[in-house]
Order: sequence, then structure tokens, then C-alpha cells
Amino acid sequence: MTRYSSVAIAASILISAPACAQDNEMADVEVTSQQLAPGIAVIFGRGGNIGVSYGEDGTVLIDDQFAPLTARIQAAISDLGAEPTRFLINTHWHGDHSGGNENFGEAGALIMAHENVRIRMAQGSDGRRVVPPAPPAALPVVTYEDGIKLHLNGDTVHAIHVHDAHTDGDSVIWWENANIVHMGDLYFSGRTFPYIDRDSGGSVQGMIRAANMVVDMTNAETQIIAGHGPMGTRADLVGYRDMLVAISSAVQTAIDAGRSLEEIQAMGITADYDLEGGFISGERFIGFVHASLTDPSASEDTHDHDDGGHSH
Ligand SMILES: [Zn+2]
Repeated sequence: MTRYSSVAIAASILISAPACAQDNEMADVEVTSQQLAPGIAVIFGRGGNIGVSYGEDGTVLIDDQFAPLTARIQAAISDLGAEPTRFLINTHWHGDHSGGNENFGEAGALIMAHENVRIRMAQGSDGRRVVPPAPPAALPVVTYEDGIKLHLNGDTVHAIHVHDAHTDGDSVIWWENANIVHMGDLYFSGRTFPYIDRDSGGSVQGMIRAANMVVDMTNAETQIIAGHGPMGTRADLVGYRDMLVAISSAVQTAIDAGRSLEEIQAMGITADYDLEGGFISGERFIGFVHASLTDPSASEDTHDHDDGGHSH
């Protein structure tokens, strides 16, 4: 019923936005899409990359960027020949991946995410980055602990939770038949070190676990959608995983030798990787790694939000 094109389609739709700071900031953002397989596409704009599954059973969106971009994202979905969004899965709670939730929810999408996404969105954060509590309409309606499967459009779409990685509520999305994975912010493919949200229960150990899990379930043909950056392959992910392991182990060795964080940051551990100048500097990344390795209890703090009903 849906016409598919095997070639990448770029769609750019600008709308006239109401006057507010975020809208003005987003006025120039171009929303484009790229077809990955029949009925599966990735949408790029500003914020986390969006995955789309569509076909006779309806449209599933993976993440939704920022609220002022919703109309442009909806237009890009429509240009693919897809119906309006029926299901929306958030890979984690950050606003550049869930900022459109209220709009999509009000337009009829059923929002799903790991339990901690709903908890953190409802609470907001007064940590290093202040985030106001999300309005109820933006919150996931269906939450899960370990994962959930959607059986539609001729595929099984898995959302698989990974503990305490980029945050404490991350999901990897896996199209089993199409051999496509959306890793959210468990994978940064651009020219930057990855961000690890320590305030939200993230850890480098979890980032490595997530990368290993995806490496184990993919092959040379798998297309990998990163949270930020261009499309990746399994080989790209292996390189990224090896970088996380090498830096983490070098930091651990330095910690064991009694070096301070400042000393470790001055050692040039990240200099082998041509990733400086991006969103996260090598020095800042060393800080995330050091904090993960020296404060394992920090990842337990996040379980206070879990109502204690289960163990990780
Ligand atoms: Zn994030």
C-alpha cells in the first residue's frame, strides 16, 4: 500500500514558528530523511536522530527531537508516505530526544519508554543541568523494565533496556528482520567523545556493555543509527567500543597508580583519537570515565527512583 523508494529522499519543510526563544533557535533547522530499507527511514534535524518504521500497521517513531520541530518532522514522515505516528518510543529521557513528546502524544501517538524515562521526565532535574518537570501529556504511557517488542509492518521491533549506560533509562531499538539498530545516545558516531550523563545514572561500564551487546547481535550488513552523527556500521561500532575500553582501562591503570583526575586529564590518553573539537572534549570525557570508575555507588543512587520493586 505504501510506495517505497530505495534512494534517499531529502525533505525540507520550514514553518513559520510562534515567537519564543527555542522556536527562533530552531527556525533554520532543516529536517531531512534517508530511507534505510522498505518501510524504515532515519530523520535528521537538530537533536537526536529519529528512526521511523511505517507500513500497513502504522507508523512507529523512535525519538522526536525538540517541540518546535514537530511540524517539520510530521511533514517528513508524511513525505515518506507514512501515516501519522501511532507509537513513539523514547531511547532515553533527554530533551533533544523527547522534546516533541507532548505534541506527538496530543496528536494521538502512544508513547513508550523504559520506566526511568517516565520517572525522570516527571521529576525534572535540579542537577548541573536544570530541567523542569515535563507536562503529563509528554510522559510515556507504556513503560517497561527490560524491554518490549512491537510486532508490525512485517518485522519485530525490539526495545531492549541497557542498565546505567548513557543514563539509567536507555533502550536499544532493533529491527530484527531489517537488520537495523537505533542506539540512541549509547552511540555517538560524529566527531565527538560520547556524553555520559552521570547525574542520570550513566556510566562508562554501561556504555561498554551496550556497545558489546549490539556488536554481539549484529553483522557486517547491519545499519546502525547513532543518537548523534551519521549512519554507522558494525565495524564503526567495534572501533567505538574499542575506544571506550582502551580509554577506560588507561584511566583505571592511572587511578590504580594513585594519579589524581587532573593528572589523568593531563596524560593525553584521548589524544590518539581524532575527536577533539566536538560536543564533548577528551578532558570532559576522561572526567565521566574517572567518575564512573571511582564512584560505582553513584549508579545505585538512581535506583532510588525505582520504588525499590526490583533489583538490577
Ligand atoms: Zn542523551
